[in-house]
Amino acid sequence: VTAPVLPVSPEALDQAAAVIRTGGLVAIPTETVYGLAADAANGEAVARIYAAKGRPRFNPLICHVSSLEMARRIGVFSPLALRLAEAFWPGPLSLIAPRAADAPVSALASAGLPTIAVRMPDHEAALDLIRRVDRPLAAPSANLSEQLSPTTAQHVAAQLSDRLDLILDGGPCRSGVESTIIAVDGDRLVQLRPGAIARADIAGVAEQQVMSPEEGAIRAPGMMQRHYAPRAQLRLDASDVREGELFLAFGDPPRGVAPTLNLSTRGDLIEAASNLFAMLHELDARGTHIAIAPLPDEGIGEAICDRLKRAAARSAEVGV
Ligand code: AMP
Ligand code: MG
Repeated sequence: VTAPVLPVSPEALDQAAAVIRTGGLVAIPTETVYGLAADAANGEAVARIYAAKGRPRFNPLICHVSSLEMARRIGVFSPLALRLAEAFWPGPLSLIAPRAADAPVSALASAGLPTIAVRMPDHEAALDLIRRVDRPLAAPSANLSEQLSPTTAQHVAAQLSDRLDLILDGGPCRSGVESTIIAVDGDRLVQLRPGAIARADIAGVAEQQVMSPEEGAIRAPGMMQRHYAPRAQLRLDASDVREGELFLAFGDPPRGVAPTLNLSTRGDLIEAASNLFAMLHELDARGTHIAIAPLPDEGIGEAICDRLKRAAARSAEVGV
């Protein structure tokens, strides 16, 4: 099925909002590049973003908001973060802040991290759509993994038209350069990705230095965490459960095993992806050893298996 390409209009925005509300994917124009957007609160919709892009990893996604108020519902904005948001939003600045306790954003969108990336795009159609659905949209660039970021609706259609539900055509993107990503860690600023706004301009507004990732990693280890890993020891491809282990199933559990949690009782990889981080967090809080059922290493299963393998290697290394 080929997704319709609709020029931006009130009717097209209405349709796009309906698609988002029902968990679908819409390509949206922004001032930087086209984004592949879904309801950030809907874990399965977010899982579909990764599946559509064919990403072999779960990178955290940027949540797009239409107001500072919406931003503050999902992130904890310090006075310094607020100052940057007020100076550069709407615009190509993504701010990484601690996740708000009750943020209406699925754990998958921030890849299980305690922080969240937020920005307000400087594009009337994107803002209008976010206002219509009245919730943040998770959106990476609307291209297949490893391919060029799209700056026209036609680029998106060429790569993804059979993998999404609707393409909003707002013409060519103004900038074509991605947003600058700044982590705000208390009173420190770290540039995680250079982008459309110059580091010097950010430093000017903040009236302080903006560190490189290397400098930031030394001074702010917590904030610089790039991947979620549980503290518990993980045992993968488990077909039994051993003394002291919690069991995370996928589909039918092995004979005689009562799973602690199940990523997807019906063996659905999209559902499993949407549950992955929330369930790992829960199991990590409940025990020190987690056995995990085998999952197919295909489609979005590749990203799930990648995350589990890294988490298992890390916990082995730390020697929990
Ligand atoms: P994209 O959506 O493709 O423009 O990429 C988003 C970028 O933001 C990725 O490179 C992520 O690593 C980065 N990012 C998003 N959220 C976080 C976070 N909570 N902590 C650190 N980096 C993040
Ligand atoms: Mg990208």
